[in-house]
Amino acid sequence: MSTVRLNKLKKPILVAGPCSAESKEQLVSVTSALQKTNSISILRAGIWKPRTRPNSFEGIGEKGLIWLKEVQEELQIPVITEVATTLHAEKALENGIKNIWIGARTTVNPFSVQEIIEVLKGEDVSVMVKNPIHADIDLWQGSIERFIKAGVENIAAVHRGFSSFMNSEYRNLPMWNIPIELQRRFPTLPIICDPSHIAGKSELVKTVAQKALDLNMAGLMIEVHPDPKNALSDPQQQLTPIEYNQLISRLVLRKATSESQMVLNQLEELRSQIDKVDEDLISTLVSRLDLIKQIGEYKRSENLSVLQLKRWNEILNSRTELAKKLNLDEVFIVKFLELIHQESIRIQTDINSTLD
Ligand code: PEP
Ligand code: MN
Repeated sequence: MSTVRLNKLKKPILVAGPCSAESKEQLVSVTSALQKTNSISILRAGIWKPRTRPNSFEGIGEKGLIWLKEVQEELQIPVITEVATTLHAEKALENGIKNIWIGARTTVNPFSVQEIIEVLKGEDVSVMVKNPIHADIDLWQGSIERFIKAGVENIAAVHRGFSSFMNSEYRNLPMWNIPIELQRRFPTLPIICDPSHIAGKSELVKTVAQKALDLNMAGLMIEVHPDPKNALSDPQQQLTPIEYNQLISRLVLRKATSESQMVLNQLEELRSQIDKVDEDLISTLVSRLDLIKQIGEYKRSENLSVLQLKRWNEILNSRTELAKKLNLDEVFIVKFLELIHQESIRIQTDINSTLD
């Protein structure tokens, strides 16, 4: 009972446990409550905690590894912990902890990732790579590639959201398009969602978890603590074992595909209608951009500026009004119009520079 085979685990993979290990009793209490309901595949617990400011609880340190090792053996549950330095990695291995996660603050630094890999390579380990703090998919991909290159292929990615200055209901913005693109780049890589660090507050964890399953993510990493209010780290976002079990029992599992031919045929039929609509959309765009070219040539011959602010405002207002009447989302239509306007400006400024 130590190294998990991430690709072989039953889905959804349920990684649950406290933000930080605080005592052996705490770990046993959470694990046994979750084992009774079969709602845990791997126990998570942080031993060294990356904290924004000093003088806060920085993790229990090395002595917690002994608890993890004992719980792993006594309760027959694989345990995963975070390593951020080569020393952490060595200590984890020495204590028989073979499942490792790389935290968001480590993924941002290729030097640290590479140093940790030098310790882990050749060992029978599993590794989960959290996304970097900021929304840089290439950096996330780069870390994953470094592991693969070193022959550490028993890996998964963890989507824990992205830090932002924007006011938001989330602690870390989910930006779902990023894990979706990562899955496109690594089609067989299990991607696990960490709704606790995305949500930042316990009430929001369930909504994020369901969304992750709707997107066919491979599993969830959720913080569970016997007494969240008194937790030494992340007290607002941890669930009690009862809340967690309730959440898991209410989640709706989605299938990637269906075995029923009737369902597949129906989907196929709707998709062929979409194909036709997309063809029409593209032809309509081509007609619009042809007109943009004509207008651009006319503006140039009459010595008029490309940007016509009054007209752009009229377009923005009238199209948004119409879209709203037709129940289209306002943010979506504004983004769409801005994209078209940008392309129109590009085409018309190109005309000016090529004809000069
Ligand atoms: C954690 O999982 O407790 C943690 C510190 O995560 P992250 O690296 O995603 O902030
Ligand atoms: Mn945490």
